[in-house]
Amino acid sequence: MQIAFIGLGNMGAAIAANLIRARHDVAIWNRTVGKGRPLAEAGATVAESPKAAAAGRDVVFTMLADDAALEAVLAGDNGLAAGLKPGALHVSMSTISVAAADRIAAAHRTRGQHFLCAPVFGRPQAAADAKLFVIAAGDSANLQTARPLFDVISQRVFYLGETPSAANLVKLCGNFMILAAVEAMGEAMALAEKGGVARQQLLEVLTGTLFDAPVYRVYGPIIAEARFKPAGFAAPLGLKDMRLAAQSADTLRVPMPLLSLLRDHLLQTIAQEGDDVDWSAIALAIKRNAGLQA
Ligand code: NAP
Repeated sequence: MQIAFIGLGNMGAAIAANLIRARHDVAIWNRTVGKGRPLAEAGATVAESPKAAAAGRDVVFTMLADDAALEAVLAGDNGLAAGLKPGALHVSMSTISVAAADRIAAAHRTRGQHFLCAPVFGRPQAAADAKLFVIAAGDSANLQTARPLFDVISQRVFYLGETPSAANLVKLCGNFMILAAVEAMGEAMALAEKGGVARQQLLEVLTGTLFDAPVYRVYGPIIAEARFKPAGFAAPLGLKDMRLAAQSADTLRVPMPLLSLLRDHLLQTIAQEGDDVDWSAIALAIKRNAGLQA
């Protein structure tokens, strides 16, 4: 299939590499051109603009930081929307707001272009291992088009129906729950450590009993070993997701007091550690609050 991939950050570069490895014809574009070099060496065609990347392609993936990045890439004379042919499909994998997904869906509809939201669960290593979970929503015919490509990059695809933004709402709910689990683990580890129990021992007991789930198995060792740099998922992106979840909570009138606490802990972490730290470093703030050496 003739495809394009736009956005070659931690996630996008790994996903695009798997599509190239599966012998698809892939055009790439990234704002910082140098990040595309390894993919070009692997066989991708480097495009000069989002419009040029999309030209003549059947499916165009975007994996960009946030609403503003995606809307910037779509807009203008050299934008993705100007290059995508009528009947072609834009698959948005970024974690964006429900409102932005609705706006973008409407804009594509007026141009006769198809649109699928397909945010993912899984960190960069899962992307590299083709073990992502894809959460897809949009016209079911579009899902059929994208399905063989999702099979190359993921271990499972969930379909949430015809409204693209539903996938983003579910992704935001999931990220809220991941950070809530990180907060709980951070607090429990601080309590155990201050009481003289090693973090690793606590983790072994918990993941070997009631908490044998990927979120604890992936984040538990990161927190216990304080592996927060380099960031797999940078804290500012996590803050963006808590903000987007809060926007939906405001719109839908859903009080989420835990979400407010998580947002504050992320802000504290970024203020103290800088931008280039993993979002799970909220565990450092929790540790300091307990009077432990972070
Ligand atoms: P990242 O490494 O920071 O990459 C962000 C990408 O967006 C880069 O390609 C960057 O281009 C591009 N970008 C940012 N602002 C732009 C702008 N104004 N115009 C054009 N391009 C712009 O982020 P990531 O970790 O790959 O995450 C990408 C998306 O996946 C985010 O929505 C994130 O929430 C979501 N996600 C991440 C993870 C994870 O564990 N990392 C997991 C699931 C979902 P440059 O290279 O030029 O900066």
